[in-house]
Amino acid sequence: MQTFPVRTARREQLLDITGQVAAALRDGPDEGVCIVFVPHTTAAVTINENADPSVVADMLAKTSRMVPRDEGYAHAEGNSDAHIKASLVGSSVTIPIAGGRLALGTWQGIYFCEFDGPRSRTVHVQVLGR
Ligand code: ZN
Repeated sequence: MQTFPVRTARREQLLDITGQVAAALRDGPDEGVCIVFVPHTTAAVTINENADPSVVADMLAKTSRMVPRDEGYAHAEGNSDAHIKASLVGSSVTIPIAGGRLALGTWQGIYFCEFDGPRSRTVHVQVLGR
């Protein structure tokens, strides 16, 4: 397994980590799968459009309306919205590897999703195949 650090700058932020994930495929298999895993409870990972930055802005704005920051949550740490968003988005994505490269669509990028930053974070990448 390979690991790389992510430093977020705001409480909520989507960071394009496609390049860091692709770098983990060096000397890897021609065919297989790449698993990207975020080992945090208030951050997540997803795949979405990396061409128009307004897509990312809309995703953050909508998730904030769906899960308000203060809504009488029980969790005393005060970041229940971040925990809920992390579970809604998910802690891993799996990408096929074809010809030694990530088989992402033309407009797809891999995004680290920060919901309780700014923080120093970690991303794990597991590459499987032949
Ligand atoms: Zn918490």
